[in-house]
Amino acid sequence: MKYIQKKGSKELQEIRDWLIEYEDVIPKWITEIRLSYDADNRDSMLKVACHPYRRYVEMDLCAGFIGATDEDKEEAVVHEIAHMILSPISDLIGLVRDVLPSGMVDEILEKQAEKAEEFVVPDIVNIIKPL
Ligand SMILES: [Zn+2]
Repeated sequence: MKYIQKKGSKELQEIRDWLIEYEDVIPKWITEIRLSYDADNRDSMLKVACHPYRRYVEMDLCAGFIGATDEDKEEAVVHEIAHMILSPISDLIGLVRDVLPSGMVDEILEKQAEKAEEFVVPDIVNIIKPL
């Protein structure tokens, strides 16, 4: 696994250490994690954008992560790993969304797909954390 730190290297060392701790459960299709620090976002801890067919993930460490408890940081890291695990399916839903008539997209995909993913993520977190 290759880690690329885009900006904010000092803050990013900690998130890199957390990811290394959980490297065994990070999906094997990910060959690169591109890390950035978003100093302006105090409302979030971490954000990921996954690109499964390009085999990399962009992860933003947000200002909300700094100063959080270790327990909350671990929860956030594992939460984002769960999104990484689900991302090939999320991507497929995105592709289906692009070819469906807009009414179906509004009713089924926009409202339900993201909700369904957030519904499953805590269960994946519960599987990963005791490992
Ligand atoms: Zn989430």
